[in-house]
Amino acid sequence: METQLISMAAPSNDTSSNYDHSKLERPDRGPESFEHFGLHATVLRGVGAAGFESPRPIQADTVPAAMRGRDVLGLAQTGTGKTAAFALPLLDRFARERSRKGPRALVLAPTRELATQIDAEIRTLSRYTKIRTVPVYGGVPVGRQRQALRRDPEIVVGCPGRVLDLVGQRALRLDGIETLVLDEADHMFDMGFLPDLRRILAALPPRRQNLLFSATMPREIRGLADELLDRPHVVERNAAGPAHTIEHLLIAVAEDRKRDLLEQLLEEENCRSAIVFTRTKHRARRLAQQLDRSGFRAVALQGNMSQSQRDRAMKGFRQQRFDVLVATDIAARGIDVRGVSHVVNYDVPNTPEAYTHRIGRTGRSEREGTALTFATRADGAWLRATERKLGAPIPRRRVDGFEGEKIENGPSRGGSRSGSKARSGRGGAAPGESRKRRPRRGTGRSRGASRGQRS
Ligand code: AMP
Repeated sequence: METQLISMAAPSNDTSSNYDHSKLERPDRGPESFEHFGLHATVLRGVGAAGFESPRPIQADTVPAAMRGRDVLGLAQTGTGKTAAFALPLLDRFARERSRKGPRALVLAPTRELATQIDAEIRTLSRYTKIRTVPVYGGVPVGRQRQALRRDPEIVVGCPGRVLDLVGQRALRLDGIETLVLDEADHMFDMGFLPDLRRILAALPPRRQNLLFSATMPREIRGLADELLDRPHVVERNAAGPAHTIEHLLIAVAEDRKRDLLEQLLEEENCRSAIVFTRTKHRARRLAQQLDRSGFRAVALQGNMSQSQRDRAMKGFRQQRFDVLVATDIAARGIDVRGVSHVVNYDVPNTPEAYTHRIGRTGRSEREGTALTFATRADGAWLRATERKLGAPIPRRRVDGFEGEKIENGPSRGGSRSGSKARSGRGGAAPGESRKRRPRRGTGRSRGASRGQRS
């Protein structure tokens, strides 16, 4: 199927514009290579082990300031390289001054998945040092985490609830924390972690470095940043709009045709790896089952699943045993899977911020990705708010056999380009035509072909 892309104005950064940047230091241009940072040799070796050749813009902007001990406000999404941006200065310091007892840095993240990811990246970067990192999050027994903390790791990466539990049990001491990192602060707020966060802040030494990262700057996070950060160095990367590597499109579709449309697109778009977002856990579970029955290798990821089920789903998706991950927002935050080719908003997200975040699951690390949003006539208000926030319309796409749905948000900006290619792609499936006769994917040629294309 041919994709129609109507050019879009450069995304505005208006989610962050209400933060008064004029009072703050602007980022300088960073170095061209990691050697310029003057990192400890063992840390530099870790950078090599991670396969990083040159610093990402956010790293070039953040690392020198953080190494000088400055507070940092990073307006950046996951996927820009912000983990290494905050991790490298920590590792450099801890590699040089080994004498102090840990934990010396606390990294707070809103979800277990993100905490695991951060922990894994820090482990890679610190491979040639003696620095230890421990992830702590709920949903798994606390015993092993308590045991790991007894070894005084320099870095603890955790979700606020479990961090507080462990502090309450005196298994985690916060009085030696020199640097606090708040990652995805906007999602911490969305997920109701602000009270927990305040309790943790109260237990930290008042003199410390603070590094705060957030994809968007809602009022509450601006307030938190004002409170927390002392003359921060502000780094702004892709704060509001989608990354330039993401082609994002909106498809108007009736609610009862969504599944047909999804199945058609998954086939025709050559989806190597797709994340499909639904509004509820129940919808995620059911849609994954339905896709599976239709022959797609699909798995659900939603908050009702146990931690081990969630881990299995993520692992299977990362290892390409599943082509489609059907997820709710809560389960999907912070997910960083290389090579996600498509994000499909099967249901529109609750907020414009969640839109940017969801579609940021593709087009990561400078790879190209496509984000498709299914919108019904009930989604007009959401669409207006999102486009206002983005500062540009989401380009429209029409798909043959799925015309007819109108969204009350002014005229469609795109003409239909879905003609011949779309028709030939699926043999001109008529609206509502059953797709059940399709052979199962997974053993046939189509899967082999898609594997081959995956990098
Ligand atoms: P993050 O925003 O930290 O989730 O990073 C997104 C992805 O980019 C992760 O898979 C990192 O391993 C990768 N990454 C971070 N920095 C670099 C770099 N300088 N060069 C290549 N890949 C990087």
